[in-house]
Amino acid sequence: MDFQFSPEETKLQQDAAAFCLREIAPGTQVLDGCLPEAACALVRENLKALGAEGLLDTGRAGSGPDMVRHYIAGEEIAKACPATFLSARASVFLCAGAIDLFGTEEQKARYLPSLLKGETVGALAYSEDQAGTDLGGIKTRAVKVGDTWLVSGTKNLVVNAPIADVLLVLALCGEGPENGAMGLFIVEKHAEGLSIGKGAETLGLRGLPMAPLVMDGCVTQGLLGDAGGRGFSQAETLLSLGTVGITALCVGIGTACMELATGHARSRTAFGKRIGLFQDVGFKLADMFAYNDLGRMLGLRAAWGMNQGEPEAPVMGASAKLFASEGAMKIVNWGMQIFAGHGYLSGSGIEKLFRDAKFGEICEGTSEMQRSLIAAAELDRWVRA
Ligand SMILES: Cc1cc2nc3c(=O)[nH]c(=O)nc-3n(C[C@H](O)[C@H](O)[C@H](O)COP(=O)(O)OP(=O)(O)OC[C@H]3O[C@@H](n4cnc5c(N)ncnc54)[C@H](O)[C@@H]3O)c2cc1C
Repeated sequence: MDFQFSPEETKLQQDAAAFCLREIAPGTQVLDGCLPEAACALVRENLKALGAEGLLDTGRAGSGPDMVRHYIAGEEIAKACPATFLSARASVFLCAGAIDLFGTEEQKARYLPSLLKGETVGALAYSEDQAGTDLGGIKTRAVKVGDTWLVSGTKNLVVNAPIADVLLVLALCGEGPENGAMGLFIVEKHAEGLSIGKGAETLGLRGLPMAPLVMDGCVTQGLLGDAGGRGFSQAETLLSLGTVGITALCVGIGTACMELATGHARSRTAFGKRIGLFQDVGFKLADMFAYNDLGRMLGLRAAWGMNQGEPEAPVMGASAKLFASEGAMKIVNWGMQIFAGHGYLSGSGIEKLFRDAKFGEICEGTSEMQRSLIAAAELDRWVRA
């Protein structure tokens, strides 16, 4: 068993950490308080900077995704700015990653180079108002008119929708041999029949570009890949691999919180000594470290399992996401307790992380669904034994 990063992975981690601290972290609190247009501009700038630094294509290995490198860069970006991380991830993992995994050579050549440099932005629209966890319930439908697929329907929560150049849309194929099955359709930003709605206000991750897509006979560039009917399994594959990125997000938030809380515990005094020397405060810092460290280990184990094609990798990913997202909620709660009244104030940093962290338990497979997946896999193993 080897817990050591390779020299290249160590270099990636160190370079990503230094770059994100210098270029991305200073904007994170700004983004939290920005008006939507300014936030979109700042996120776009961040994506370009990450792309120019080579940090957007770290998860590409030629023959398939390199989930370990994806995790390493992701944790550093998320630690610096969770909203920037989610925007980058929607663009280069959920959209470009899907094109890389399932697209035709022509689609890859058309979209990947600029997405991976951060020069264009991508998005993935799968869930709907009445179909989040239960993706089988989507209503968005595509019909083929001549050679063109036209999509109609609404996707209400789509990261990057306001700044996206290319969007992948999950829809039911309305006719032909794929009738009733799903496909991922490629939609470009100026497509006829596409409108982008007004972004919703959110608890956390403020500044993350997000808006509904309304499509009315929207002209698409066709199906992702060369055949329809595979959209549901393609979305499932992405969301399963995606547990690694969400684990990186949660651990990044946890690390940022731990750094703030440790600094506060060292500098704040009460009853004549630094508060970190009170056992109750020190134990909270110890628990924060242990939860975060284990979250990282589970994330990297899942990433490694995915790289190896381990049959257990989806369960490893579900466990990692479940543990790290629930761990992040504990960590931000302990962090807030260490800051106490000063943490509760807007602009404290800890208050923002407290709001940002909740997303991990909700997105891309809620904690309930991760538990269901793990339980089903484990019970199946017992039945077979
Ligand atoms: C900030 C943000 C960004 C997002 N970005 C995107 C995006 O880019 N693209 C996109 O398509 N979507 C996006 N979403 C939507 C997101 O994917 C959904 O919110 C998520 O999948 C959960 O779906 P839901 O909110 O409809 O909850 P529901 O599916 O309505 O779930 C509600 C509750 O019921 C529970 N539940 C449901 N089914 C079961 C079951 N079988 N067993 C046990 N419990 C169950 C859930 O665990 C949950 O607790 C985003 C959401 C947010 C908040």
